[in-house]
Amino acid sequence: MKQYEFWFVVGSQFLYGPEVLETVALRAAEMSKEMNASGNLPYRLVYKTTAKTNQEIADVVREANYDTNCAGVITWCHTFSPSKMWINGFTALQKPYCHFATQYNREIPQDEIDMDFMNLNQAAHGDREHGFIAARLRMPRKVIAGYWHDADVQIRIGNWMRAAAGVAFSKELKVMRFGDNMREVAVTEGDKVETQIKLGWQVNTWPVGKLVETMDAVTESEVDAQMEIYRQTYTIATDDVESIRYQAREEIAMKRMLDAEGCMAFSNTFQDLYGMKQLPGLASQHLMASGYGYGGEGDWKVAAMTAILKAMGEGKGGGTSFMEDYTYHLEKGNEYSLGAHMLEVCPSIAMEKPRIEVHALGIGDREAPARLVFEGHEGSAIAVSLIDMGGRMRLICQDIECVKPFMKMPKLPVARVMWKPMPSLETGVECWILAGGAHHTVLSYDVTAEQMKDWARMMDIEFVHINKNTTVDSLEHDLFLSDLAWKLK
Ligand code: MN
Repeated sequence: MKQYEFWFVVGSQFLYGPEVLETVALRAAEMSKEMNASGNLPYRLVYKTTAKTNQEIADVVREANYDTNCAGVITWCHTFSPSKMWINGFTALQKPYCHFATQYNREIPQDEIDMDFMNLNQAAHGDREHGFIAARLRMPRKVIAGYWHDADVQIRIGNWMRAAAGVAFSKELKVMRFGDNMREVAVTEGDKVETQIKLGWQVNTWPVGKLVETMDAVTESEVDAQMEIYRQTYTIATDDVESIRYQAREEIAMKRMLDAEGCMAFSNTFQDLYGMKQLPGLASQHLMASGYGYGGEGDWKVAAMTAILKAMGEGKGGGTSFMEDYTYHLEKGNEYSLGAHMLEVCPSIAMEKPRIEVHALGIGDREAPARLVFEGHEGSAIAVSLIDMGGRMRLICQDIECVKPFMKMPKLPVARVMWKPMPSLETGVECWILAGGAHHTVLSYDVTAEQMKDWARMMDIEFVHINKNTTVDSLEHDLFLSDLAWKLK
C-alpha cells in the first residue's frame, strides 16, 4: 500500500489559557497514537497541531495541500473553536476532509464535573460551530460521530481513509488504451478531457503495433519465469503449453509498457488485435490480480474504476474485478444474474484455485486463448458503473449478494459469479436500467457503497445507490431531482 497519511488537526482558541491548550495538545497526540495502535486504521493518523488562529489554520491547510503523502485532513474541536477563523483555511483546502465529532472522555464524571471540566471538554459545543461553517461553505465532507476508543468508530474512520486514498490514487491515475472502443458501443465512451478535469485520470492511447513489437522483444527465459509464476499460482489444466506461453509473453509486454508509462489501468478490444495471435485472457487476468485495472472493449472508464477500487480495498482479501452482467436465471423465487466476461475476470474473487484452460473464442477471429476458469465466491459485494451523462459523470452503485455456485455449467469455460442484485432481481434490474448503468461494472467484495458515496462526494460527481430499500418510484424521483440539481451546479 502507498504510505499515505492523514492529518489530525484540532481546533481550539486562547480563551481558556495555556494549561487547557497544553492538555488539548497532549490528548490529541495520545488519541492519534492509540488509534494508530488499534490496527483499525489502514493509514497513519498524524496529529499535526492544535489550531487557534486564522493564520495557524491557513498554514496547516497550505502544508496539507502540497504534501503528496497527506491524503486527507481530519478535524475535531476539543474545546470551542470559533468558526470564522476556519474560513480562509477551509476555502483553500484541496484535500479530502472529515470532521470527527468525538470527545476525550467517554462519560460525564458526575461527582467531579465543574465549570473547568466544561470549558475543557466541550466538543458538543465546538463541533457544532465547526460544522456550521463547513455547511455554510458547502464543503464536501464526511462527518463521523462517536467515541474515539470504540472499534466501530475507528473502522468508520478507516473506511473513509480508504475512500480518500482512492481520491489520491485517482488524481495520479494513468490509463493505457490499446486500440479504441468497440465499434458502435455507447456506454463505454466518454469525455476524456472532462474526466481528467474532474477525476484526474490521464487516458491515452498506444498502438497495438507497439505492443506486438514489445511482445517480440520478450525473451524465452522471461517467458519461462512467468510460466513458473503461473505454475505456482494456478492449476494448469491443459496440454497446450504454447498457448499459455503466448499469454505469458503478452502479460510481460503489457506490464512492461504499463510500467514504463506509470499506468495502473489498461483497456483493449478484440476488434483491434492486429499482429496478435490471442486475445489476452490469462495475461489480463493475472495483471488484474497484481492490482492493475482492466476494461474490455476499450472501456477505459471501467478499467480506471477497477484500479481505483482495487487500491481502496487493498489488503482486504475479498477481491475486486472487472465484471459484466451476462445472462439471467429467472426461475421464480430463485432469480440471479450471471456475471462473467469472454475471459477477463480477476482471480482475486475466486472461490478455489483457478484452472488454466485453453478454449476457442466465438468472437475476435484469433487463436484459442489460455484463460483462468473459476467460480467467484459467495458474499456481500457491490457492482459499480461510471457513466458519462454528457456534461457530468454519474456513479451508480448497487448492493449485490453473490451466492455459492449452484450450477455446474460444464460447457462454459470462463470465470463467473452469480448474484442477486438488491432489492430483488426485477426491481434491481429496473433501477439499474433507469439509472443508465453499463453492462460492464467493477465488482468488489472489499469496498462498500458508503465508501463509493464518500469517493463520489470528494470527486464532486453524482452518486446513485441502489440498495435493499430502493423502489422504482423513489429512484425515478431522485434521478429527476438529481438531474435538475446537476444541471444547475
Ligand atoms: Mn464486455
